[in-house]
Amino acid sequence: MTCSTVKVDTAGTELSYVHQEATQWQDRHPDIAYAPPEESIVLFGGLTPLQDHLLWAAIQTMGGNYVALPTPDNEAFRLGKAYGNRGQCNPTYFTSGNLIKYLQERHEEGMSKEEIVRTYVFATASGCGPCRFGMYTTEYRKALEAAGFGGLRIESFEQQKGIFQMEEGLRVTPFSPRFFIMAAKSVILGDILNLMGYQMRPYEVEAGAVDRAMEAAKDIIAEALQHRKNLAYAMYRCRKLFQQIPLDRTRVKPKVMVIGEFWAAMTEGDGNYHLHRFLEEEGAEVIPQLLINRFLLSIWEAKYDLIKHATLPDTSRPKIDFGHPKKRSMIQATKLAVKGYFTLYARAIGLRNYALPNMEKLYELSRDYYPVDSDGGEGHMEVAHLIEAVEENLAHLVISVKPFGCMPSSAVSDGIQSLITARYPNANFLAIETSGEGAANFYSRVQMALFKAKEAVKSEEV
Ligand code: SF4
Repeated sequence: MTCSTVKVDTAGTELSYVHQEATQWQDRHPDIAYAPPEESIVLFGGLTPLQDHLLWAAIQTMGGNYVALPTPDNEAFRLGKAYGNRGQCNPTYFTSGNLIKYLQERHEEGMSKEEIVRTYVFATASGCGPCRFGMYTTEYRKALEAAGFGGLRIESFEQQKGIFQMEEGLRVTPFSPRFFIMAAKSVILGDILNLMGYQMRPYEVEAGAVDRAMEAAKDIIAEALQHRKNLAYAMYRCRKLFQQIPLDRTRVKPKVMVIGEFWAAMTEGDGNYHLHRFLEEEGAEVIPQLLINRFLLSIWEAKYDLIKHATLPDTSRPKIDFGHPKKRSMIQATKLAVKGYFTLYARAIGLRNYALPNMEKLYELSRDYYPVDSDGGEGHMEVAHLIEAVEENLAHLVISVKPFGCMPSSAVSDGIQSLITARYPNANFLAIETSGEGAANFYSRVQMALFKAKEAVKSEEV
């Protein structure tokens, strides 16, 4: 399926783009002499810094030149707002501004804008979601054009389309099955390492010991990815680094689960005011949302859609039940592979006390509150996570991070979660908006909710 987007910019001019990258850039911009693939440089980013680095290491093995962009900061946000359309959600501003910031820095170092456009390619994910995610590529183009980098190549893959996307046209970025498998492994490895950090840092006896082990582990895994070595063995080598760190598990810490919109809840920077580190500094243990959870949700949605379409009485729909068993097997195989790799690497490094979410159970928990057919943003996951956290006493505080201007997150956090907290009065839940400004207000609201969580921990001790 090709996903088309028609947008109107702030001046009222219609900007019409087809943002699946089948169109040849050279045809679209005959005036630009694009560098051949071997001389082009692919920019990517948007995960945690650790995962971006591991992905960078993994795709080196496929040939080509890659640069992982730094974590977006407030300057990136300012640039995104300056060059983007009005009324976007703030992850759009942070990520488009981050790209522009990187390109402007190259320009300040002496590279002409023409050379930058000729050389760089931006690789990103896209989709046909009902939220603004479906318009990201369009937004990047609009902002790039306004910043003087019009025509810079953007290559996107569709997040719901699986691993066979090479047929979309000639690309610089190798969106091959191997690319997606390497990307999934990098994300899983990074998730596990990040979890080790979150579980151990609050209890370290010597400040900074866990971060130093994380850095060393990052190098070991990156080296294994770059040289295609055994990844389970690399994780086992990392285990020894973590085992040497003295911990004081007698410290009593409130557990804080961070949920919300995917990017805002996951980024480790100004995009959420460094929320995870702030919580640790304030004496909490953070339970983060893993990136792989979003992937598991996409797999669950694919299966759900498949079953739903196959059983619809509407004959005008495409007959997809012809390939139904095959597609279902592929979905099942992908799920098993993801869970299998996660379990293998987690055991190798010694990660305990973590199980990947049971998507069927989360669906059952949320289906009375959230129409699961509305799959924008995090879909029903936010609702399910809150109910699960309260019913199973998983956390003393649940924080939902909702970016300013986010449609799905606002509807869930301000609407449905109010119903959940009314039904579960013992829930300590905070929905908090990240606007890119107003950090003092953000921190003070988090501190107030954390105070309640600390009181809850104390009462457990009595
Ligand atoms: S879920 Fe919200 S913040 Fe994320 S892309 Fe969609 S509208 Fe933007």
